[in-house]
Amino acid sequence: MLSRLFKRGASNQKERETEGSRSAKEKVKETMKDETLVIHGGIDGDKTTGAVNVPIYQTSTYKQKELGKSTGWEYSRTGNPTRAALEALIADLEGGSAGFAFASGMAAITAVLSLFKTGDKILLSKNVYGGTFRVLDKVFDSFGLSYALSDTEDIASLEASITPDVKAVLVESPANPLLAVTDIAGVAQLAKKHGLLTIVDNTFMTPYLQKPLKLGADIVVHSATKYLGGHSDLVAGLVVTNRNDTAERLAFIQNATGGVLGPFDSFLLVRGIKTLSVRMDRHVANAEILAARLLKHPGVSRVWYPGLPDFPGHDIQIRQGKSGGAMISFELAEKKDHREFFRSLKLVTLAESLGGVESLACHPASMTHASIPKETRKSIGITDRLIRLSVGIEDVEDIWSDVDSAITKA
Ligand code: PLP
Repeated sequence: MLSRLFKRGASNQKERETEGSRSAKEKVKETMKDETLVIHGGIDGDKTTGAVNVPIYQTSTYKQKELGKSTGWEYSRTGNPTRAALEALIADLEGGSAGFAFASGMAAITAVLSLFKTGDKILLSKNVYGGTFRVLDKVFDSFGLSYALSDTEDIASLEASITPDVKAVLVESPANPLLAVTDIAGVAQLAKKHGLLTIVDNTFMTPYLQKPLKLGADIVVHSATKYLGGHSDLVAGLVVTNRNDTAERLAFIQNATGGVLGPFDSFLLVRGIKTLSVRMDRHVANAEILAARLLKHPGVSRVWYPGLPDFPGHDIQIRQGKSGGAMISFELAEKKDHREFFRSLKLVTLAESLGGVESLACHPASMTHASIPKETRKSIGITDRLIRLSVGIEDVEDIWSDVDSAITKA
């Protein structure tokens, strides 16, 4: 991807040379494996000083040499070199042509939804993240952008819900919190047939495990607060597209609405992404062990994990992603008390969010999915005994002994 950083202000000789060496690097990048790309993708170091990391350009504005002659950088809402490094990196990782960084996953989703207009309708995975549902239900609804919850796992039923006003399908796969798997390539093919955009929330997988644009999607969104940041120390959102018209419009919306990520958090996110592959490998290895053990636990009535061979959608998951990821949901057996389970945890932290190095447990019914009406929640299987586990990278036996003993005590 030719980053927007290098498109700006390439008016002097030095900058043109930088662009030249960048094109050579673009070629090398095409052959890079993800493990290399997370470290060398985007903008590899600072060309001005030789710093191996793009520095934190903590500035709101940039000196202009004379009227009408800027360096290509004018104001940090419009563009900031640290943010541009992150945007180029995520575009490289997702295989897109442009990336955009926002102050949160919800700001990223809001920018994507701003592509649509009054009278348009979005079809939404029925287990979508509660906040995505809420922003459509309580914010965009007032502007006449409507939505319908749809069974994106069932392509035939999805096709049946396409009406002339539908303009896009927004898919989360695996979806929050029951990890339902949607055939992304199948949805994208259907969407293309009907002239709709396919938007995929790739938060649970990351581009290391799944690349929706390669499966035919048009736009990928992330809550980068999760695995991409990886350390539970920032809130951020990312968008990537491979369509030039969408990229242009998103750049306009990003600047016009202004929910951009600051330079320091952009730097932290680039830093987090450098270890994405090693972290994800360990997250997944731990999750596979824990899911298999939870399945056999007498205190557990059901386990949802796309990496389990009997899980519905497992075959699709393995075809479209590298593994089942590292999110597990399980339901405590009928007589168990979920409050006691959470009280008994000693190592695993009761908290919102996911994707950090530390294992986190949450209670979807009262936390992540509290904004979904109770009847809808029940109808999609989010009961009070449902526990969602974000498996961290601690020693797996330490995590297991904590979870096992909390289930037993519950
Ligand atoms: N998408 C998914 C799948 C999420 O889990 C979340 C947050 O939990 C979001 C989007 C929203 O992201 P953020 O909390 O960074 O605004």
